[in-house]
Order: sequence, then C-alpha cells, then structure tokens
Amino acid sequence: MDGIVDETLLQPDDPPAFEIVNAGGRSAAFLICDHASNRIPRRLGTLGLSDGERADHIAWDPGAAHMARRLSVLLDAPLVLSGYSRLVIDCNRPLANTQLIAPVSGGVTVPGNAAIAPEDRAARIDQLHQPYHAAIEDMLEKRRGRPTLLLSIHSFTPDMGDGPRPWPIAIAYGRDDRLARLLIPALRQDGTVVGDNQPYAVTPDSDYSIPVHGERHDIPHVLVETRQDGIRTPETAAAWADKLAQAYRRIEAPALRLT
Ligand SMILES: [Zn+2]
Repeated sequence: MDGIVDETLLQPDDPPAFEIVNAGGRSAAFLICDHASNRIPRRLGTLGLSDGERADHIAWDPGAAHMARRLSVLLDAPLVLSGYSRLVIDCNRPLANTQLIAPVSGGVTVPGNAAIAPEDRAARIDQLHQPYHAAIEDMLEKRRGRPTLLLSIHSFTPDMGDGPRPWPIAIAYGRDDRLARLLIPALRQDGTVVGDNQPYAVTPDSDYSIPVHGERHDIPHVLVETRQDGIRTPETAAAWADKLAQAYRRIEAPALRLT
C-alpha cells in the first residue's frame, strides 16, 4: 500500500446501498421500500445509539420490508429496497430537508449525525441516497411504454405521542390522488379502517420518492403505510400483504386505464 486511505463510506464487507428483488416481475405494480433496513455502515459504528434505539421505528419502518417482499411474490412485481437505516440518510427526504441526516429523530439525539462534516454528508448522499434512487429510475426507464403503478411501502408507529392512531393501514399521496381514489375504497370494502392521507400526506418538501419517481413521470402511485403493531411478525406482515394484494387486484384494470 502506498499510504492511500480508503475514504469510502461503504466498505467491501458492507452490503450494497439497495437490493433489487424480482427485477423481471411481470406485474404493472412496481414496489419500492425506502425504509426497509436499520443497517448502519460498519464505518459509522452505532451512530452513538443504543441497541434499542437502533431497533426502534426512528431507524427504519419495522415490518415494511417483510410486507414489500411478500407483495413482490404475490403480484410478481419488481421491488427495490433501500439497504441502510434512515438515520444514516433518509432516502425519502429531499436533499434540502433538515431530516435528511437527522440530528434528532423522534426526540432521540443521534450523536453520529451531529455536526457532520460536509464530506461525510456528501458520502452518504453519493453512496446511499443517490444509488438507491438511480436504481429505481433506471428500472422505470427500462419499463417506459409499459404500464406502471408505483407503490411505495412504509409502516408507521401506533402512537407518536398524539394519541393512538386508529388506522391499521393508510394510503398517502400528494397532488396526484388517482390511484388512491381507487385503492382506498377497495381496501375499505371489508370494513377495514383506512387512513386517507392520515396520519401522513405526501409533500414535495417532506417526501422524495413519490414526487420524483411518481409525480414527475406522471406514473400513478400511492404511498402505503401499515401500522407497525399489525405487522410485527413475518406472518402478520404477510397477512396484510395478502389483503393489500387482493385490493390491488380488484382495482388493477381501472388503474391501468390511468396510465
Ligand atoms: Zn417510512
């Protein structure tokens, strides 16, 4: 070695920034999962957080990856999952958002994000945020001319201190509600209580994936959020995936007329 220091964030034994599942899936549904993992690159240690904090919803969307993988199988849909914790960098935040690399999340201070050096911030963007979204863009580009319906799979915590949240599942959207207007009634058909842009709505300031991959390309889309207490185990996550897949199948034909 000639004294060259490898300054890259991801080391050879770290997994890649994203994972693609079922790339050749034949469904019109195209799945993404921004908060799939609570992994932290080895170089960043624990970000100064306890085991409990790193397992908590501030670090990822518990259950969302299980649900997304199951949906991918049920619908034969391609799926792109982010490989790292939202506390390292939040892949669903625009680069200008103050929570992109959150100094405090859910009331928890993240020591590894405090006073982050500009080159370290740039490395997280270049090696994690950018490749994940480039992978999605690349796949969408290859599908051009084929009908596509974008489903962004998330989960939400049952209580953020504002009282218990009554919706076991929620559909969020921004300025384009076309797919939501079909999927919400389909999910409600059996009496399920479904959040309609509650507890969260999509906005271009707080969200990245739907505005960039959905709205900008005029691809009909929804952000699906399942409440975390309903998807704590692979089995319960699979049950909600089954339910979502059934609702999706009921509305796929009219939804394709939107594309
Ligand atoms: Zn999320």
